[in-house]
This record gives sequence, structure tokens and C-alpha cells, in this order.
Amino acid sequence: MTATKTRKTKKTTEETRTAKLLTVGASQVLALTTERDGTFYGLTEIGADRGRGFCLAKADKGNGPEETYHVNLAGHESTCECKGFYRWNHCRHVESLTALVGAGKL
Ligand SMILES: [Zn+2]
Repeated sequence: MTATKTRKTKKTTEETRTAKLLTVGASQVLALTTERDGTFYGLTEIGADRGRGFCLAKADKGNGPEETYHVNLAGHESTCECKGFYRWNHCRHVESLTALVGAGKL
């Protein structure tokens, strides 16, 4: 696997990322957008042993099968199935859903 890392001398500020909850027909859609890009997930609440469970189905952009992540929100023990979470122990899915739940939107 070739990992290409471009490390430019640029500002270390994080991109502004916005999590929004949209309603499309009868479904809920989680929109994670930055200044450059946007990712949309179909959002379904699923049962969880503790905390809250959500299934995020990444919208297919026509270039492959859609990906699905199960997210369990349980405070500091929240989990997600994406690679970012396995690697960093946090990810935008958990963070955005936690923010939406905290804001009373979910
Ligand atoms: Zn994730």
C-alpha cells in the first residue's frame, strides 16, 4: 500500500465541518459538510444495549457499493465501525451524532 502524504506548510486549523440533520421524505439524512466536500448518510436509529445506536448508510456516489457504519453512542465508550475510529478511537460519525444528540436534534 502506498501512502502518499503531502505535508504542506499550511495553517493547522481544522476545516470547518458542519453536521446537519435533514429529512428527506420519510428518512433522516445526516449531512457532514466541509468547505470543500460533503458526505451524506441515511440515518436509522437501531437498538443498542446501552446508549443509542445508529446505522449510517453512506450515500452511493455511483462509484461503488455504499458503506454502512453502525455507531453506538455511549459517552466515552462510543464506538463506530469506520476505519477512522479503529485507528484514532474517534471519528466524525461519533462526533457529529454526539453533537446532534447533545443539541436535542436526535
Ligand atoms: Zn466513524
